[in-house]
Formats: sequence, C-alpha cells, structure tokens
Amino acid sequence: MSDCCEGHGTGRSRAVPNGAGHLVIIGGGSAAFAATTRATDRGWRVTLVNDGLPIGGTCVNVGCVPSKALIRAAEAHHRARSHSFAGIESSSRVTDFGAITSQTNTLVEALRQEKYLDVVKDIPGVEIVKGRARLRNHREIEVDGRVLQADRVLIATGARPRVPEVPGLAQVEYLTTDAVFKLREAPNSILVLGGRYIALECAQMFTRLGVKTTVLQRSERILPTESAPLTDALSGYLEEEAVDIQTGVELRSVRSGRTGVSVEAAVGGETRTFHAERILVATGRTPNTEELDLKAAGVEVDRDGFIKVDENLQTTIPGIYAAGDVIGEPMFVYTAAYEGALAAENACAADGEPARARDYHPLPWVVFTDPQVAGVGMDQAQAESAGIDAETVKLPMTKVPRALAARETHGFLQLTRSRGNDRILGARVLAHEGSEIMMEVSLAVRFRMTARDLASMFHPYLTLGEAVKLAALSFGKDVSKLSCCAT
Ligand SMILES: Cc1cc2nc3c(=O)[nH]c(=O)nc-3n(C[C@H](O)[C@H](O)[C@H](O)COP(=O)(O)OP(=O)(O)OC[C@H]3O[C@@H](n4cnc5c(N)ncnc54)[C@H](O)[C@@H]3O)c2cc1C
Repeated sequence: MSDCCEGHGTGRSRAVPNGAGHLVIIGGGSAAFAATTRATDRGWRVTLVNDGLPIGGTCVNVGCVPSKALIRAAEAHHRARSHSFAGIESSSRVTDFGAITSQTNTLVEALRQEKYLDVVKDIPGVEIVKGRARLRNHREIEVDGRVLQADRVLIATGARPRVPEVPGLAQVEYLTTDAVFKLREAPNSILVLGGRYIALECAQMFTRLGVKTTVLQRSERILPTESAPLTDALSGYLEEEAVDIQTGVELRSVRSGRTGVSVEAAVGGETRTFHAERILVATGRTPNTEELDLKAAGVEVDRDGFIKVDENLQTTIPGIYAAGDVIGEPMFVYTAAYEGALAAENACAADGEPARARDYHPLPWVVFTDPQVAGVGMDQAQAESAGIDAETVKLPMTKVPRALAARETHGFLQLTRSRGNDRILGARVLAHEGSEIMMEVSLAVRFRMTARDLASMFHPYLTLGEAVKLAALSFGKDVSKLSCCAT
C-alpha cells in the first residue's frame, strides 16, 4: 500500500463505509477479544493475530485465573490447618503439589475455550490467525509472510514479566509468572524478587503450601504506593504466617549453586546473601512492543516502551489504536477489556461519529493476599495533595459483626470523605475478603454519595458490607457505643 500515513498528523483517518471495514487486531488477550465482539457488533470484519501465549493471553493462561485458583487452594489448606473455632479439630496436608497445578491447568483450559474461543467461534467475519505480527506500514500487517490489509489496526499485545538487570540473573534458571503456576513439584524454598501485588500473592500462596519463602523488595515498604499503616499491617500479617519480608533490598548479584540460587544484596548498609532452591522474578511488567516494528508505521512509545495513546486510545498514527497492558497502567484485565471495547468502538465509528474518551473513574483494585487489600478513589494523603479538606475514619474489623462471627478480624476499613460536603472520596480496606465491600464504595464515589447516604442505607446483619455503614457512621459517632444495627 503506497498511501502510508494518509491522514498522518491530521488526527483523522480515511473514512470507511459503514459496516464494511476490516479491523486487524494484533494480540489475542482480553483487550483483543473485547475489541473483536465490539467491532463485529458494528458489522466489521475482524482478523485477530496471536502468538506467544495461547489464545486468551495473560489473564486466563498465566495471570488472574491460575494465580487465583492456586491462592484459593492454598487458602483451603491454610484454613483447614488453622482456624479459630473451639471444639473442631482439623488438619491438612499437601500430598501432591502437581495435582493442584494440574487441576488449575484444567480450569485454565476450560475457561480459555469457554470465555475466549467459544465466544467468537460463531460470530461471522472473525478470523483467528496464529503467528507473530509486525507492522509494514500503517495499514499493512505481516504475519509469517502473509500480508493483511487493514482499514484500522488495534495493537493489544499485552506485557510480559520484566526481568531486572542484575549481574548473573540471566544465567540462572529463574521462574516468572509465565511458568510458576505450572510447576509439577513445589520447591523447598523460594526467593521472590518484588514486593507488589503479584509478588505478594505468590509469596503467601507458596508459604501456605509449605514453601519457605523470602520476599526481596527494593522499596522500604511492600505495596509502596499505599500508606504506611496499611502496608505495615499487611507485612505483619504475612510475617505471622512465616513469609520472610526483606525491604530496602538492593540486588547486587545472583548465582546458581549445587542446592539452588544465591542472591547477594545490600540491605540497610550491610551485604547479605539469601539462598533458596528457586527464584521467582516478579518485579513488574514490560510491554510487548519490540517485535512489532512500530517505527515502520510511525507509532510512538514512551521511554519504557509502552505505546502512547490519546484519550480515545488512538496512537500517534491515525487509524492505529492500542489497548490493554501494552499502553501501561492501569494493568488489570477489566481495564484491558474496557479499553479493547472502547478502542474498537472508536476505530469502527462511522464517519463523523464523535470518538469516546476513556474514563476510569472510579477504578477499584484488589490485592489478593489474605487479608486482601483493596481500594477505590482517594485515600487521605491523595485527597490532601489534591487540595481537598478531607477526613478519614478507620474502622477496625473487630467492630464488624460478620468478621467477629467468622473470627477473621484482621485489618480495617478506612473511609475518606470531603469535610466540606460529606461526599465519599474513596476507601482502603485490609480485611479477609475485603474486596467484596469495595464495589459499594465505588458506587458511592461514582454517584457522588455522602457518608450520610451510606449510613442511612439498610445493610443486612451480619454482612461484610456492614463495615461500610459502620465506617460511614463513624464520622461524628463512636460506633463502639452503638447497639446492634443502630444508626
Ligand atoms: C500473575 C498475574 C496475576 C494477575 N491477576 C490479575 C487479577 O487478579 N485481576 C486482574 O484484573 N488482572 C490481573 N492480572 C493482569 C491481567 O492479567 C492483564 O492486565 C491482562 O490480562 C492484560 O490483557 P491484554 O489483552 O492487554 O494482554 P494479554 O492478555 O497479555 O494479551 C496479549 C497477547 O498478545 C500476544 N502477542 C504479543 N506480541 C505479539 C505479536 N507481535 N504478534 C501476535 N501476538 C502477540 C501475547 O503473547 C498475548 O497472547 C494479572 C497478571 C499477572 C501476570
């Protein structure tokens, strides 16, 4: 195609007659599938090109699904071994680690079929191509010698584990999340590099399944973007379960020996050596952009390689869109799917139809440790730095009847409101299954509800959701002085 970069720099791309376009999607994960259904709903033909991970991409194959399935298995084992109920004696033993991962793999395969392949198999006009795609120009995609002509292109190639440059690391047989959930045997011990959500979820899961686990985190705190009281409390709970958490760790070198892997690091001015049978690298994600030949089409990336997009998810080249992890934070499966659908809608819009801008407000998020950490909107520090006169109440889970009955009273809920108009600004929770209450606060933030609104709602007794009501009541009242279900 000689018309490379037609519309280049004008912000508009060549008009496509309604319902007659061809969208080529590079990548086969959640963003790509959401885009496929949205584009075909609009009458477009879709060619989806995927390689690397199997169809479904990160979430179903090596991310959300296997991690959460294994976390649940580890939790079932943990609860059976240690619960707080009198008069019940129980025990649990891991007899076959490989059986746990193979059961997880069966679930992965079933969901890959049901939630991805089956979803598109009966949609006319969808072709799935296996192969590595690269851009020849802004309208031509080459896949193993075959050239696809596109009216619009969507890049949804996701991200992969980022491996830090530490001397010796490349020479050892390190694990990443691409392989760790498929291990047939549990190691005796593991070093986990990283201290954010993926690292912490894996660390607790391994510890609960009997693996001696050490977290090596560069920052002074785990989950360093969250407040110190929250991360300190989480560290305490994880350490009670024997997760060894080392922070302020500056990695110096890695080497393998007869019995595993050794990491030399500077910790608080001292040189220390950590040793374990295996090492898991969970130090963040890097975008899959190098092999796309983005320069051939003029698509720009930021300094970390993530594709630059505007509010409508269009890249620096009109007609080429990008969505999902490949455009950077937020990197969740639900935001990837949202972006994929939105990008497809904008890419396949009829001539003259206004483009829709992305809007993540409010964006709830979860860390699937136990207790879970979840949040939405602003915490006190964020509200203050936004210049809002804010107030935060902290409700310990010991005040929540559901938590008392379940004997799961770890943690607390922090609810933040604007002092001026009582509007809910956000919340943070650290609690067993705490993520379940975050959607109520998300609705409150989204629909500009006040603490008074939340406090006046019926909340069934005993539910975890009562925590939200009790926290809302705590603005101005001492809830420990209220009788059951009082308002
Ligand atoms: C361990 C782990 C746990 C997670 N847990 C959660 C969770 O609980 N909840 C949550 O919301 N999110 C979670 N996430 C994040 C979530 O999985 C991702 O945000 C999401 O899957 C990204 O989807 P995507 O479509 O952008 O990319 P992907 O799903 O990564 O899909 C991209 C696809 O494109 C392919 N590809 C790359 N380059 C090319 C090329 N040149 N040609 C053809 N194909 C190519 C890739 O191999 C892949 O198949 C987790 C991630 C990890 C790693």
